[in-house]
Amino acid sequence: MTVQEGGCLCGAVRIRIEGEPIFAGACYCRACQRVAGGAAAYAIAYPKEAVTVTKGETRTVTVKADSGSDVYREFCPDCGVHLISHNSGNPNFRAIKVGVLDDPSEFKSQGSIWTASAQPWHRVDSDLPAWDGNPDPRPTAS
Ligand SMILES: [Zn+2]
Repeated sequence: MTVQEGGCLCGAVRIRIEGEPIFAGACYCRACQRVAGGAAAYAIAYPKEAVTVTKGETRTVTVKADSGSDVYREFCPDCGVHLISHNSGNPNFRAIKVGVLDDPSEFKSQGSIWTASAQPWHRVDSDLPAWDGNPDPRPTAS
């Protein structure tokens, strides 16, 4: 079983991931652009039970997604870095921002999602599948 650890910028929040990913990709939705500083957000979705907060506590902001779901974005209350997101449409997964992993080098994108919101200057990976919205079929947590 793969075990990874990660944390926010200031170190107040630490997370641990034990399990295999459901989906890994780049999200171009406008909310992710705001959080990621303009770029797509690179994220890996895991089954809910794979992700635990091992130090500190996150705060959660709830944002309505383009899909109509509520997206719960968990961030460090001290430094503001977003670590975990999940949503009402698919409550069995937790998506981790790749940048918070201690070793993000193993990330392999399986595709781009919400490319309908991509900016003209984004470079959506043309070698991988791309979806205007959520991936179809939706990856599911078992
Ligand atoms: Zn922090």
